Amino acid sequence: MKTYAPVTEAVLDALKTIVGAEYVLTEPEKLEQYQTDEETDPRKFHLPEAVVLPKDAQEIAAVIKLANTYDVPVTVRSGGTSLAGGAIPVCGGIVLLMERLNKIIELNAEGMYMEVEAGVRTVDIQKYANEAGFLYAGDPCSAESCLIGGNIATNAGGNKAVRYGVTRDQVYAVEVVTPTGEIVELGARLKKKSTGYCLEQLIMGSEGTLGIITKATLKLQPIPPYRFDLLAVFGDPEQALDVVPKIMQAGINPTSVEYMDNSYVRGTADYLEFKGAPHYENGIYVIITVETFSEDELDLKMEQLDELCSAAGAVDVLEADERIWDMRRNCQESVRLISLVSLTDDVVVPVNEIAGTIKFIMKIGEKYPFPVKINAHIGDGNLHIVLCKCELSDEEWENKVEAFHKEVYTYAYSIGGRLAGEHGIGAKKLREMETYTPAGELAIMRTIKAAMDPQLILNPGKIFDL
Ligand SMILES: Cc1cc2nc3c(=O)[nH]c(=O)nc-3n(C[C@H](O)[C@H](O)[C@H](O)COP(=O)(O)OP(=O)(O)OC[C@H]3O[C@@H](n4cnc5c(N)ncnc54)[C@H](O)[C@@H]3O)c2cc1C
Repeated sequence: MKTYAPVTEAVLDALKTIVGAEYVLTEPEKLEQYQTDEETDPRKFHLPEAVVLPKDAQEIAAVIKLANTYDVPVTVRSGGTSLAGGAIPVCGGIVLLMERLNKIIELNAEGMYMEVEAGVRTVDIQKYANEAGFLYAGDPCSAESCLIGGNIATNAGGNKAVRYGVTRDQVYAVEVVTPTGEIVELGARLKKKSTGYCLEQLIMGSEGTLGIITKATLKLQPIPPYRFDLLAVFGDPEQALDVVPKIMQAGINPTSVEYMDNSYVRGTADYLEFKGAPHYENGIYVIITVETFSEDELDLKMEQLDELCSAAGAVDVLEADERIWDMRRNCQESVRLISLVSLTDDVVVPVNEIAGTIKFIMKIGEKYPFPVKINAHIGDGNLHIVLCKCELSDEEWENKVEAFHKEVYTYAYSIGGRLAGEHGIGAKKLREMETYTPAGELAIMRTIKAAMDPQLILNPGKIFDL
């Protein structure tokens, strides 16, 4: 990896001139807060040398120009909820916080769009849209803590992706500060566009390596007035998994289809102190949300779902109230109860292969010394496999995790899958990115990065090692 220049007094003075002295942090206890994101293994933490809080795109552009002049790396940080080590400043340098860019600029009801600064919390966008009678359909489980710029940079998925798609499907246009410090507008508020390269889509999912998103124009949807959340509980994982393709083929067009294995049912119920969680002892949950614009259509679809789940062997079909959704949203957090160090994987496979993939993982998981827990956005083929270090030594943990991942990724790629469905590659999967990505695809990505960021200033050590 490239070696960068240190953040000197001259750099700090120049930063203070750009953003104001109170928005440049260098105290050790403050820097410590930004040495990790959701990464739990202290060996992966890395301290920044300075943290800056700019107020707008102009200040960000000036910081980036300065970083190029002094050859100092910059890592952008929004909510810091990355599960891929994306917000860790692995080469030191400057961490650039987005929290001061927190204005909702406009909601246009007639045009059904919102314009927001990149540092607005996702949940605040959802609420604002809702209060105006619209839906912003991006809905990661971390919505309370992450910021919209972080969602766009990682192309976050979430609970509504089955029906509405992922974050990139919710965005018309972005304002971006390039790695050389220019401010550009990419994309347009259009339903269709064949006017040269689709650069806004290139920025989305680029994990802070190709530009800093400072503003976004987001699509809004009408809110379907009728909704039902159903919990199908299974005793046998095979039955739970086999019902999913049937639901997808039945034309029900669900908004969400989520899966929690029994370790998560128990783990989240314990974490939330939810005493009466249905079928706590051995239930496997499939949570399905259906939304419609007519009551009759909702009734029909619920009947269809009930029949499909019962025929597949569900031991219970219930209404999934907010407590069940709380359990689903807290899968990640609940892991802390059993292990301070854990690893979340984010492999994605074609939807019709997800049942086979989970069965494969459950089978190979038996021979490993750590608990293997699975929850999944099962309706869009994206599974989260969580491995818990518990009391294992560092060496055993590392060796076994590597062997486990090798089996999982080899299987996933053999059926057309990819390493990450929504969390990104970050700092976590550089080696796997090299190993599994088709050579031609990787070469184009490297060429784009080198062309846009010739000094490799933005978020080095992420996605691939240059
Ligand atoms: C409990 C929990 C639940 C989660 N659930 C989901 C889920 O359902 N779906 C999902 O997809 N993810 C989920 N995640 C992962 C995480 O929340 C997402 O990746 C989220 O999009 C990150 O947003 P953030 O604001 O926290 O970004 P950060 O973690 O701060 O940054 C993430 C990456 O984006 C870059 N970045 C941040 N802001 C910008 C910007 N303005 N411009 C350019 N680059 C930028 C950073 O450099 C970094 O590489 C979950 C995480 C947790 C802890």
